[in-house]
Amino acid sequence: MARTLVAAVAALVALMPARAGEWALALHGGAGVIERGRFAPGEEEAIRQALGRALERGRAILASGGTAVDAVEAVVVALEAAPQFNAGVGAALTSAGTTELDAAIMDGATRRAAAVTGVMTTESPVRLARKLMETGPHVFLAGAAADAFARAHGLPQVENGHFITPARRRMLEEIQKGGASAAFDLTLRFGTVGAVARDQAGNLAAATSTGGLTGKAPGRIGDSPIIGAGTVAENGACAVSATGSGEIFIRARAAGQICDRIRFGGQSAEAAANAVIADIGSLGGDGGVIVVDANGEVVFAMNAPGMYRAAVTSRSAPVVHIYADE
Ligand code: ASP
Repeated sequence: MARTLVAAVAALVALMPARAGEWALALHGGAGVIERGRFAPGEEEAIRQALGRALERGRAILASGGTAVDAVEAVVVALEAAPQFNAGVGAALTSAGTTELDAAIMDGATRRAAAVTGVMTTESPVRLARKLMETGPHVFLAGAAADAFARAHGLPQVENGHFITPARRRMLEEIQKGGASAAFDLTLRFGTVGAVARDQAGNLAAATSTGGLTGKAPGRIGDSPIIGAGTVAENGACAVSATGSGEIFIRARAAGQICDRIRFGGQSAEAAANAVIADIGSLGGDGGVIVVDANGEVVFAMNAPGMYRAAVTSRSAPVVHIYADE
């Protein structure tokens, strides 16, 4: 009885009108074994600056009254272009030495969404997902058909080699030396990017983009482009972008589970995110999530030593963090 009452009160709070004019933005650049002392000189600073620049792109949109969808897309486009992260340029390589890119975007106001997987020539997979969301009727396109859709809609095309950096080649070589189990080695796997936002109108949105896992089998699909696993946005509940062991995030229905805990279980965003990260851990997975709830509360949760992340809201100055204890 008491539990029912608590849930009912929490649900009422969630239905209260959003605070007018307030906005919030969070981003991630992947989670993994990101520890002090692992970086080459200048590398950590370059990563912090890239995170800060991407955050500023979204901040400018939200502060001037733009939409959450535009903000998360702009942030992810910026992170795709930064070679430090496993999305767009700098994406992880498949076992065949190519890149196959995945991305998703979701508009919490309408619950329209779209995702693409196995993209090989479209410069910005998240722009492709956005175009698919606007155009419909499908929500998920794969491989050559996804690239053909992008070409047909005038989105810039590149050679697959455009995405490949020397650092990601070295990671593939390391993994291939270490055998199949190394594919899940946390020290060699991080950098997926994502963003979540609440705009001044109270609408939520999420976007995620990734090269997936280094050494993945061609055709493998992770959680990032699966709505409800690595990406979700639902007004009145939350917007989530995940990073980590994609197979486990799919099995845990991670992003959707967080929103359901908030919407139906009356949990706070923080409690919901922590519970789902614990669930991921119990299945042998690791990684992190960024969450923004209907009130613009931002939550980071992770069970890895670090997650590249940043946030800014209409009530708080920008922060950029790397290590779990920051
Ligand atoms: N979740 C991504 C995937 O499994 C990888 C990552 O976030 O590092 O494709």
